[in-house]
Amino acid sequence: MESFDVIVVGAGIAGLTAARELLKKEPTLKVLVLEGKDRVGGRTLTVDVQTANHTTDKFDMGGQWVGRTQKELLALLDELKIELYDQYETGRKMAQLGTEKIRSYSASLPVFAAGSFTLYEVIDFVRNIFRMNRMSNKINVLDAFSWEGAVAADEQSVASFARSIALTRSARDALDIGMRAVYGAEAKRMSLLYHLLYCRSGGSFMDLVEATGDGAQAFRIKGGSQQISLKLAEAVGNERVRLRSGVRRVETSEGGPTRVTLESGERLECKRLVLAIPPNQCGLVEFSPPLGYMKRRLYDNMTPGHLIKFVVTYKSAFWREDGKSGEIISAGRTTIPGEILPIVCSYDATTSNGSPAIVGFIHAELHDWTVNERCNAVVKDLVRFFGTKALAEFIAYEEKNWNKEPFNGGCPVDYVTPGNMDAFGSIRDMHYGVHFAGTETALVWMGYMSGAVESGKRAANEVLHALELRDKVDHKYMRGSQFSVDYHCPHPPSDHYDDTTSPWRRRIFFGCALVFGIYAVSKKYDLSYTARVFRPVEKTVFKWWTGFKWPH
Ligand SMILES: Cc1cc2nc3c(=O)[nH]c(=O)nc-3n(C[C@H](O)[C@H](O)[C@H](O)COP(=O)(O)OP(=O)(O)OC[C@H]3O[C@@H](n4cnc5c(N)ncnc54)[C@H](O)[C@@H]3O)c2cc1C
Repeated sequence: MESFDVIVVGAGIAGLTAARELLKKEPTLKVLVLEGKDRVGGRTLTVDVQTANHTTDKFDMGGQWVGRTQKELLALLDELKIELYDQYETGRKMAQLGTEKIRSYSASLPVFAAGSFTLYEVIDFVRNIFRMNRMSNKINVLDAFSWEGAVAADEQSVASFARSIALTRSARDALDIGMRAVYGAEAKRMSLLYHLLYCRSGGSFMDLVEATGDGAQAFRIKGGSQQISLKLAEAVGNERVRLRSGVRRVETSEGGPTRVTLESGERLECKRLVLAIPPNQCGLVEFSPPLGYMKRRLYDNMTPGHLIKFVVTYKSAFWREDGKSGEIISAGRTTIPGEILPIVCSYDATTSNGSPAIVGFIHAELHDWTVNERCNAVVKDLVRFFGTKALAEFIAYEEKNWNKEPFNGGCPVDYVTPGNMDAFGSIRDMHYGVHFAGTETALVWMGYMSGAVESGKRAANEVLHALELRDKVDHKYMRGSQFSVDYHCPHPPSDHYDDTTSPWRRRIFFGCALVFGIYAVSKKYDLSYTARVFRPVEKTVFKWWTGFKWPH
């Protein structure tokens, strides 16, 4: 059986970062990366699409945007000499929210768009965002249940929360679209606590959805994001990366070697194993000894989002000439029950070479349609927003249905269903000789490429620690690790009986309030029967207060 110091499973950004970090710190380590697909990059994929003048250009069908607060990713891009360019943002944006009507606005989000939306709607947007931010600011990403509102937040979905606070259909639609665009998920399926933690990890809800300021959609990568993994694989050494090597079984033990069995039946051995794969894929791996209860429950209840991403290339960026930015957000609902229009959101995707295009996401309900049907529906929907030029200037349509992608199960990120956030606390926990990386395990910008980089570095430093190479450990990246010096076990959900608060306190308070209420009413309406009952009390209080006898 072939033997290695470290085997990393998954040649996405997290796995390749972990392998590179290990080799950078200790070049003598024998490291192998195993990847199930026939390519590196995982949830990043850059493809050639036909563009104007019979040429092709590179477009991202997976991870694409970079935000200015995504420090880990920005540092890596700098190291790999990969350049960025601004997301085009000038012009009016279009929204279909709360009604079939399309409304345009020029603020960064409809939240600030008084004029196109009624004042009532704008107040509702602002109120909801403010409330969500206030809640997410209270969350400690390392310990969600240390917040006193955590139990209640985990018991409800984002949709039930939205129903309880949003006063208008437009505000509910806006939140639904946000959920679909950020997680590829329906708000009714996600734990509110997970959503708040995710917002906290990226900064705020606005940071997740905005293309301006600290928003996650501020920049794009020249030449596409898959370059990151291609360059990382080159740095690791392509001979150390084995493609078409899906791992199906892991045997591990305390202090002993860890063995992996590939789909082909081949077995390999290592001192430490890093699983840099999405949680839903961890759930498909057979572990011996089995995973602990919390981790098992986590993998059973972390569901991948569902995104179909599309790119439409055009002869010209006609929307720019018409004063539009190319940005659409749409609930896709009409007055016909059951009808759904495809586009959830879109952006200008004109490349750094100037090839005009629109990129966007398609509603998951269109999953079972054929590519042709989706293409027709998308172009028709673009005509609804941009006019007939969206058809006349059409060149090509390309899409990626991530739910059909092997070794991913869905995209862009796995999320936690209501009632399971206690299990989420175990996401970074080791299982004997196995370490867990991947963007879902990150603390900052979890779910994004930046989170993937951070998680890879954390796992690599854990491995160095476990291999007794402690002088090589960078403690900055050990935050959240069980090996970290300030590690503490996250609080469990605190729905315990609180015996320190006596129920009598409440009973006495309400009893007094009731008696006082009856007294006040009997005085006001001169009720002789109750007045008689209170008279001795009145006399006693009068005497005690004034020192005189009750006047007859
Ligand atoms: C459509 C879409 C849009 C996105 N947009 C953005 C964006 O704009 N900005 C942003 O920052 N992020 C975005 N993301 C998310 C971003 O792409 C991911 O956060 C990041 O790429 C995750 O990297 P990772 O290494 O953690 O996981 P992955 O990229 O999923 O890598 C895991 C690897 O493990 C492999 N694997 C899985 N199971 C096994 C197994 N059993 N054996 C062997 N190999 C296995 C997989 O094939 C995969 O290559 C988007 C993602 C998608 C899909």
